[in-house]
Amino acid sequence: MLTGFKLDNPSISKKLFFSATCKCGTAALLSVEVSENKTLEQVKEALPALLAKLRGQASVFYNMSCEAHASMRRAQFLSTGSSERA
Ligand SMILES: [Zn+2]
Repeated sequence: MLTGFKLDNPSISKKLFFSATCKCGTAALLSVEVSENKTLEQVKEALPALLAKLRGQASVFYNMSCEAHASMRRAQFLSTGSSERA
């Protein structure tokens, strides 16, 4: 399940974000960067390819074992200082 699709203000940032969440509670933020010289229209045209790329990243995430997800959560906890614990 992919949630939280969001296109940032293209004049500031050309990054597309997806958050993927596993049933074990691990969430991954997936992103693809869009080249700076693309207009919003061009970005929209490129969306299907970008979304395919994101889906690829998401399927890598979903194909990982929940044990691997748990280590990701530990790593995220260390790097972000999040209070969420595995
Ligand atoms: Zn999991």
